[in-house]
Parts: sequence; structure tokens; C-alpha cells
Amino acid sequence: MTPEKKIIILAGPSGSGKTTISKHLLEKNSILSFSISATTRAKRSNEIDGQDYYFLTESDFREKMQMDEFVETEEVYAGILYGTLKSEMERIWNIGKVPMLDIDVYGALNIKEKFAPQALTVFIHPGDVETLKRRLKLRATENEESSRKRIHRAEEELSMSGIFDKTVLNIDLATAQAEVQQILDNYLSDKI
Ligand code: 5GP
Repeated sequence: MTPEKKIIILAGPSGSGKTTISKHLLEKNSILSFSISATTRAKRSNEIDGQDYYFLTESDFREKMQMDEFVETEEVYAGILYGTLKSEMERIWNIGKVPMLDIDVYGALNIKEKFAPQALTVFIHPGDVETLKRRLKLRATENEESSRKRIHRAEEELSMSGIFDKTVLNIDLATAQAEVQQILDNYLSDKI
């Protein structure tokens, strides 16, 4: 790893707003490129394979694990695997950009451990669990069981926010976006 190989990771529970914030940052900062994860979960109707995720069968995913093709993998929900591919990070570095990862808390910490100090981990905090529950319930894509699992997972993830380089409270989206932009600017100019 050379020093210019930076990585920015936005983590936080499902419903924290990290995906909205990451999309905003990607629009505003051409230096960033979204790191497309691999997953075994079913594709949602609004998602595109190779753009939102690389949707893999479980056996393909496990084969890639055996071939050591991932930087990190997590079973985020029971039976559903997610992972960051080494080839994806290399693809982005090779075009002179900084990979921006939108991943779960454990994946973020694994990457931080492997790539510190180059990697910057930012925890997007939804404010409180009630706000989060409201947001998760508003999501039409989730059924009851899946929302319940997500809320349980979110509570677990919230308890780990202290381990991150930076934590941003997302109560007002515009404020949170400006704060993450400031953190990003400092990171890219080597101030943090
Ligand atoms: P979703 O199914 O809603 O797209 O994502 C569920 C969770 O998995 C989110 O917290 C998302 O950030 C996380 N996730 C997505 N890709 C990866 C990955 O490559 N690795 C890890 N560890 N988590 C991921």
C-alpha cells in the first residue's frame, strides 16, 4: 500500500442515512468512486447488477472467499453474505480515485485494521433508536421479519460508534452532509 491509496468508509446501521450521504458525496466529489460490494442477497427491483452490487450466488461468493478475493466479508444478516472485493479497490485506485465504501460496522472495522492509517472510518449516527425504527418502517422494501432483524442489528451497531475515527449525527441531512464533506476535505488534504 502506498500512502496515496486512501479509502473512505461510511458505516452505520441500516436506516442511518449513510447511503443518501454517500450518494451526495459521490455527486459532489469526482475524486470518489463507489466501491461496489458483492452480495448474495436478492436484487431489489430498483437495483442494477454491477452498479449497486455484484449479485452473486452463495456458491460463487464462497468460491471467491476460498480464492482469497475479498478484503473483508460479513454475514450481515443470517445467511446473507456481503463483501468488498480486492479487485474493486484496485480498479478504483488504478483510475486515480478514492474508493468510498458503504458497508456495515464490522466490515468497516476490519478494513480499518488492515489499512490503517490510510483508511478513514466515519460512523453515521441516526440520533436515536426511535428515529431509526421510524426510518426502517418507512422503507417499503422491507417486510416485518426483515425490518425486525435490521432494527436488532442497528442497536448492536449503534453501541460500536465510539470505535470510529469520526462520528456524524444525522438528524438534519444537510448539516450531516456538510459535516461529512468537511471531514472528507480534511482527510484528502492530509489534515486528518
Ligand atoms: P443492504 O442489504 O440494505 O443493501 O445492506 C445491508 C447492510 O450491509 C448495510 O449496512 C450495508 O452498508 C452493508 N454492506 C453492503 N456491502 C457490504 C460489504 O461489502 N461488506 C460489509 N461488511 N457490509 C456491507
